[in-house]
Amino acid sequence: MNDTARTEPRASGSESEDLASIRERLTATFRSGRTAGVPWRKRQLQGLIDLVQQNEERIVAAMDADLGKPAFEAWLTDLLTVRDEALHALKHLDSWVKPTSHPVPTVAQPGKAWTQPQPLGLVLVIAPWNYPVQLLLAPLVGALAAGNAVVLKPSELAPATSAVLAELVPQHLDPDAVAVVEGGVDVTTELLAEPWDHILFTGSTRVGQVVMEAAAKHLTPVTLELGGKSPTIVAADADLAVSARRIAWAKWLNAGQTCVAPDYVLVEEAVAEDLTRRLVEELATVRDRAEPTSIINGSHLGRLESLLEDHGGEELLPRKVDAEARTMAPVVVREPDLDSRLMQEEIFGPILPVLSVATVEDAIDFVNDRPRPLALYVFTGSRDTEREVLERTTAGSACVNHAVYQVAVPSMPFGGVGPSGMGSYHGKSGFDTFSHTKSVLRRPTRGDLKAAYPPYPGLVQKVLRFVTRWPSS
Ligand code: NAD
Repeated sequence: MNDTARTEPRASGSESEDLASIRERLTATFRSGRTAGVPWRKRQLQGLIDLVQQNEERIVAAMDADLGKPAFEAWLTDLLTVRDEALHALKHLDSWVKPTSHPVPTVAQPGKAWTQPQPLGLVLVIAPWNYPVQLLLAPLVGALAAGNAVVLKPSELAPATSAVLAELVPQHLDPDAVAVVEGGVDVTTELLAEPWDHILFTGSTRVGQVVMEAAAKHLTPVTLELGGKSPTIVAADADLAVSARRIAWAKWLNAGQTCVAPDYVLVEEAVAEDLTRRLVEELATVRDRAEPTSIINGSHLGRLESLLEDHGGEELLPRKVDAEARTMAPVVVREPDLDSRLMQEEIFGPILPVLSVATVEDAIDFVNDRPRPLALYVFTGSRDTEREVLERTTAGSACVNHAVYQVAVPSMPFGGVGPSGMGSYHGKSGFDTFSHTKSVLRRPTRGDLKAAYPPYPGLVQKVLRFVTRWPSS
């Protein structure tokens, strides 16, 4: 596959339809009020469930073509996640859309105050290639639950999945409210030049900056789901056998191409030798057990190989790269240089640096000296250590004694902090991200007091100061 190939924009529904006409069509649908109705929203969510459940085989085959992804993992990480996210939204939508009433202060009495969520309008969702179904359709759940019209931009680096979704989305969802626009960086750039009511972007921190800069021109609000180096702290009192198995699983999942994968391990030196040996054994086991997921393309494989060139550490598993299949066996790197590219860049592949630290306190300092990560993992048998790490480090999300699974709890917001992202989605937070909370005050017209207008009578001024408990001068 040519990594840098220019691609013509292609929209689902009609291949000849240009971006302006897609926007016009979707905007007209939104303005008609159709998407705001709760029954419409529920039909779309059900449509999304049908899309993933009825087309499992085709979608999994497309992900296999793009990523060589094992069928069960494709189902687990992409199809099931989207289905459960949509089911959760369906279950809670009636309560999410309800207005919330607010107490009215004396100055605004008499009156009734409430907030009501309302859809934003026409929103754009841009997805990466690593979980090409989940990261396109899980944000769509929030956008549809909130009643928006949506343009979806799948990643050009997962072309088979992009094509199958472009075909299936208009079959299962309202084609005048949801459109898939396929294409490469040039198409994304074209999309970003337009004014949207919201953009949710998932991808690298570098491109996140491009997105935010483009959005700033129109003051378009953004949710940025970015990457970074997610640390994994292993305390001396952790269950080392279970910790090693779980870290190895999380690192090897999708060949390390997971935004919340453990990027590197910080282990207390008392157990460093023991944990490292177990990590090597576990990674060798998962490596030999099944066909590996491919690295997405030649340039990413080359990038991973180049990370191994100059790290200054000790490699504990043999390098094994198959350029044709684009696969890479896992490598553990003991004590790499901290200024090596391996320890400076997000790895996003099956390489696991392991560094020993004297104490958990040192691990906390190590994390706090670096950009705030998307996820942080701590393996410990002590609630005190757990509390210490959770309270004194900042990360988008965390998991204690496992990794990655925190993302699978549909009611918890998912997002980064600082350079790993801003805003969140999943569950109610996805609904909130794509809704505007409108504040409304309704006042009766009966009994309109003249005293409420200038010149304010002295008595009224006195009474108001008294009831608002303003200290007299
Ligand atoms: P990427 O940033 O290269 O690409 C993402 C999207 O941006 C693609 O659709 C692409 O068309 C577009 N794009 C790329 N370059 C662009 C440019 N110059 N101008 C405009 N648009 C451009 O990311 P990727 O390689 O697809 O994914 C890997 C990155 O995504 C990693 O950093 C990973 O951590 C991150 N990620 C984050 C999450 C999360 O939920 N926070 C999930 C998955 C991946």
